[in-house]
Amino acid sequence: MEIFIEPIGRLINQFSKLPGVGKKTAQRYAYKIVNMSAEEAKEFAEAIVDCKRRVRYCSVCGNFSEAEVCDICKTRDKSVICVVKDPRDVVAMEKLREYKGVYHVLHGVISPMDGVGPNDIRIKELLARVDGSVKEVIMATNPDVEGEATAMYIAKLLKPLGVNVTRLAHGIPIGGELEYTDEVTLSRALSERKSL
Ligand SMILES: [Zn+2]
Repeated sequence: MEIFIEPIGRLINQFSKLPGVGKKTAQRYAYKIVNMSAEEAKEFAEAIVDCKRRVRYCSVCGNFSEAEVCDICKTRDKSVICVVKDPRDVVAMEKLREYKGVYHVLHGVISPMDGVGPNDIRIKELLARVDGSVKEVIMATNPDVEGEATAMYIAKLLKPLGVNVTRLAHGIPIGGELEYTDEVTLSRALSERKSL
């Protein structure tokens, strides 16, 4: 006999799919849902379905967007492109409220150990964006082994195109992540960026 009745067991299984959610936490979440009003539970479920229906990747930068091209790509200075690993890094940079350029989300970094090569992330798409109108490309991948290697790899491809390639200054702890870097440190790393 199963410990949980079927609908609760099913919900626990779904919550268990979330990052950092173990069986115990999944069980707590499921019980919380059971105790919600029908209206609240419906809103919760609809938010999930709605997210999947309305959120896609911007065809230019690869960040999350509701439209084919995101608001950042539509309204900001396209002569500076900040290259990041994933959409969470865009959030970290945007919190500074001082960066006025656009982004390019790679959706990963080169990591031979994990079988991720240059063709598995959005490098081609970046090269296609860098034309005469782009003055600077800021490599803002994390300062860990994969992030550094990816920054160097891309810098080498961009140099012949005559664009200034810069790297966030150190200060972000080595092996650290943009996402977890405090705003003062990240802001300084941005303003003190160096040419590669
Ligand atoms: Zn965009």
